Amino acid sequence: MTDTHPLKLFNSLTRQLETFEPVHEGEARVYTCGPTVYNYPHIGNMRAYVFADVLGRVLTYKGYKLSHVINITDVGHLTDDADAGEDKLERQASTEARSIWDIARHYTEAYWADIRALNIREPMKWSIATDYVPAMIEFARKIADKHCYELESGLYFDVSTVADYGRLARTQTDEGEGRIEAVDGKRHAADFAIWRKTPAGETRQMEWDSPWGKGAPGWHLECSVMSGELLGFPFDIHTGGIDHREIHHPNEIAQNQAICCTNGLDVAANSGAKLWMHNNFLVERSGKMSKSSGEFLRLQLLIDKGYHPLAYRLLCLQAHYRSELEFSWEGLDAALTRLKRLVMAVEKMAAVSKTDIVSRSIQTFLSRFEEAVSDDLNMPTALTYCEKIANSTELHSDVKMEAITTMDSVLGLNLLTLTRADLRIRPKSATITPQEIETILAARKEARAAKDFATSDALRDQLIAAGVEVMDGDPLGWEWKLGA
Ligand code: AMP
Ligand code: ZN
Repeated sequence: MTDTHPLKLFNSLTRQLETFEPVHEGEARVYTCGPTVYNYPHIGNMRAYVFADVLGRVLTYKGYKLSHVINITDVGHLTDDADAGEDKLERQASTEARSIWDIARHYTEAYWADIRALNIREPMKWSIATDYVPAMIEFARKIADKHCYELESGLYFDVSTVADYGRLARTQTDEGEGRIEAVDGKRHAADFAIWRKTPAGETRQMEWDSPWGKGAPGWHLECSVMSGELLGFPFDIHTGGIDHREIHHPNEIAQNQAICCTNGLDVAANSGAKLWMHNNFLVERSGKMSKSSGEFLRLQLLIDKGYHPLAYRLLCLQAHYRSELEFSWEGLDAALTRLKRLVMAVEKMAAVSKTDIVSRSIQTFLSRFEEAVSDDLNMPTALTYCEKIANSTELHSDVKMEAITTMDSVLGLNLLTLTRADLRIRPKSATITPQEIETILAARKEARAAKDFATSDALRDQLIAAGVEVMDGDPLGWEWKLGA
């Protein structure tokens, strides 16, 4: 497509909007920090991947050949983002009395199911951390002499050996006391393990031989190695949730500076990626997002309650990725209704031919849509242009269809294939079948026609008792809805 509005993206490293200029002409290479597969992802985690997906779709829409990598962390992420605690996978494996490999496979599959349900496009590569351990050892070996020191517990990166450590987080070498648990012998509070040795006398389920003894890689090392191997330093964009701006990404940057230092250690030239982008959090005030709370907010819980997963995708699109987004069931209800209206409009697209005004106004809408997505992915505004086109009575349906096809390639709401019936998901708790509902509703209609209100009311009460909300005259065309 013609690039009428240059793509501007917010770079967390400079805290500024920057015009996207690819490292390799016509290409966009993007790395996204993926999940640690020790548990189900919560819907907040999935916001990070909806954001990365929208970024990828916008880059494709703007004509770049996209190479996207998302990693799967199946080793090395400790219960604390710094160096404290246990390996999340090791701990979960012992809690569930399963092997780590089993745990990793199970939760990776669950994550991929959520990815598909949210219509997130497959990246070029899912990089699995354990496949890259030899490359991690090699990376660590190359930087060890100049940038690391060995302690009993592992090989540590000395953050004072690179320029401007913590620029991304706006912290300094010695900041972070309390934030990062002290390890005996660490030279600076922010120094971090790039190799964690297996303590003497212990055996880990996952451990590898290395020049520093048996052990496992540090989580930060994994992303530096996989992004560099698969996309080549420097690549274009590195993404993650805003929490990664504080520890994980500054540490990745420090390692990248150490390995890329051909032109000195300057951060801007050697951070590994030109742009670092971060989505803000999805928040939920009552704590249901915490994986330690029995029933936490997983996508499957939303589906079980009768919400189509794309209603959650729409909820994400309604907020700018750099704004915090508060989750509520009312908000999700509203997003589902909005999606339903959009799907109905696309289903109904009436052919009202006023050919002479068609091309100008459609071009205006398309251009505004492009302007919005080019403005640091302003999806809330872009969405309204899609709705304007879908609801317009002046445009020819063929032209509308073409415009919606283009816009949905970015929104990813499946507007051309989704039907209203698809959006009505049966809550898991429901015992009554749709056929039974329809039969009772038909009987109720007959009773009403015969002015037999006693029977009609009794049938309605029967439906209510089965959890069915009867919606006479619903403008969205649903006669009934199952409550969760
Ligand atoms: P994790 O599996 O914990 O490494 O998290 C996966 C991704 O989700 C990372 O990019 C996190 O920064 C991101 N993330 C974690 N919690 C939230 C949240 N509440 N809202 C949005 N993104 C989140
Ligand atoms: Zn990462």
